[in-house]
Amino acid sequence: MSLVISVEKTQNPKEKPDPSSLGFGQVFTDHMFVMDYTEGKGWHDPKIVPYGPMEFEPSTMIFHYGQAIFEGLKAYKTKEGKVLLFRPQKNMERINISNERLCIPEIDTDFALEALKALIKLEKDWIPEAEGTSLYIRPFIIATDPFLGVRPSLTYKFIIILSPVGAYYKEGINPVKIYVESDYVRAVRGGIGYAKTPGNYACSLKSQVEANKKGYTQVLWLDGVEKKYVEEVGTMNVFFNIDNEVITPSLEGSILAGVTRDSTIELLKSWGVKVTERKITIEELYDAHAKGTLIEAFGTGTAAVISPIGELSWNDNVIKINDGKIGSLSSKIYETLTGIQYGKVEDKFGWTVEV
Ligand SMILES: *Cc1c(COP(=O)(O)O)cnc(C)c1O
Repeated sequence: MSLVISVEKTQNPKEKPDPSSLGFGQVFTDHMFVMDYTEGKGWHDPKIVPYGPMEFEPSTMIFHYGQAIFEGLKAYKTKEGKVLLFRPQKNMERINISNERLCIPEIDTDFALEALKALIKLEKDWIPEAEGTSLYIRPFIIATDPFLGVRPSLTYKFIIILSPVGAYYKEGINPVKIYVESDYVRAVRGGIGYAKTPGNYACSLKSQVEANKKGYTQVLWLDGVEKKYVEEVGTMNVFFNIDNEVITPSLEGSILAGVTRDSTIELLKSWGVKVTERKITIEELYDAHAKGTLIEAFGTGTAAVISPIGELSWNDNVIKINDGKIGSLSSKIYETLTGIQYGKVEDKFGWTVEV
């Protein structure tokens, strides 16, 4: 695509936040990327403009039928001041996988990555430098026709916003308590579970709220039909170390194919660890725990990278995993992945991309 990105710089640059008090997703940088789609014309008018409110008619389709997709990745500043992205092509490819499912027109992934790099270059000073901090990147696409009929929109906006975020683990990695959901379901095969789309999150909120009330941090979803097979945790894929074989649910259409999941599998294989992608029942996990072979369990996702699971509660049956402590594989994966992301560990896989 030979589109030229126009740049309009802000007249009122904001003050950068105090790096020690950064949370997640509350502060946004000075600029954003916006590109329009019109049926017959394709994607057009890519531009970088000041970050700020956007105006939409109340009839805009996204507000009514939820036709939208999103992504999440990070930019990291190395000690030498380089800016690195972690496998961003994967996220761009996943945009098109989600688009296809939601009837949103395909984007040019190379151009989208160029646009992302141009935006980050402009906002370089917003990337925090303190240990563990980063710049969270949120690309998303929304349906913009002002129309109440049910059909795919004929117009869209592709937007990228940036948010400096704090270290996920400030006081060391703490294993989380997980509630295994056996009433509500998140996704079924044939549905939209494998797409990164707001509907999956709207669907999961009620269970999340109820689990929080019971003292659990996150929900582990079971398959939507038999409520038997393990799927994923909230915003993370899951892995279980049973008898030194690492098992993760196979991608059957209802699970998101996480970039961190894929990277974890690659890393483990490179260390000679046996990794298996297959269906696994919650019962098998409980049986393994009873036999003493469930060595560790952890979630993987861009936000936390690795989140060890210290406790599971399924139908009032509570089990503790690895004494509620972080396992040795979990910490090795965490150290290696974050090491690569911050340019401290040699990137043998060619995963990082310099901006
Ligand atoms: C984004 C997401 C993940 C994690 O994917 P990463 O690419 O590793 O960040 C896992 N599950 C769901 C439902 C997600 O939306």
